[in-house]
Amino acid sequence: MFGWFRKRRRQRLRSRSFPSAWEPWLTSNARFLSTVSLDNQASVRHAIQVLVHEKNWEGCGGLKLTDEHRVTIAAQVARLTLALHGDYFDEVRSILLYPDAYLAESQQDFGSGIVGRSSSGRLGEAWYRGPVILSWQDVLRTGRGLNHARNVVIHEFAHQLDMRNGRFADGIPPIESSDLAQRWLRMLAHDRARLRQLCEMGVGGVLDCYGASNDAEFFAVASEAFFEAPQDLAVQWPDLHQLLGHIYSVS
Ligand SMILES: [Zn+2]
Repeated sequence: MFGWFRKRRRQRLRSRSFPSAWEPWLTSNARFLSTVSLDNQASVRHAIQVLVHEKNWEGCGGLKLTDEHRVTIAAQVARLTLALHGDYFDEVRSILLYPDAYLAESQQDFGSGIVGRSSSGRLGEAWYRGPVILSWQDVLRTGRGLNHARNVVIHEFAHQLDMRNGRFADGIPPIESSDLAQRWLRMLAHDRARLRQLCEMGVGGVLDCYGASNDAEFFAVASEAFFEAPQDLAVQWPDLHQLLGHIYSVS
């Protein structure tokens, strides 16, 4: 029943004309749009309208949220919606936005009931069946094309995708074909080890070295490169590029 109402609401939202007041933000903060086909541009605009309406948006750290924030972030999520054939990430109810990198307190269980806390500067976070948390300055740099092969929104939503088949992000997103899943597992072990080696040798490339830290970060970092620098990824990491093409079957 809820699914039927949601479908109807989305059809209604998609049929509305895109607010003209939002267009300048797409021009300045969603540079990728000019590189996609007109049909896909229309689909992105439709998805933005649904995402802006459906998500619970919250400003944090004193940030007063505006439509520019919502539209700019929704435009990046809409790329994934398009690539995943109409997936609006229903499990992500809230998107929280800080003005800049923020301090996050994390809890660590050291055993014997002792829980440690540490603080670290973060650009984004994704919680299992919980919110995505982002830093506006980083979202903006990405949207304006100033973060080559980096995209904090794609990164955090890739973690959300990863967590759909288990409580923890493990670098293995849902993959329907068992053949592809096997190929993904083999590639993951091989390519992450290669990234670690390259990074230890100081050889730069399209993948951020942060991706070498574990399988979950490798998938998130590779997803960023797949959307932001697909040609570089195809040349430097051809298997990875091809497999991501199956996961994100963007036309
Ligand atoms: Zn991450």
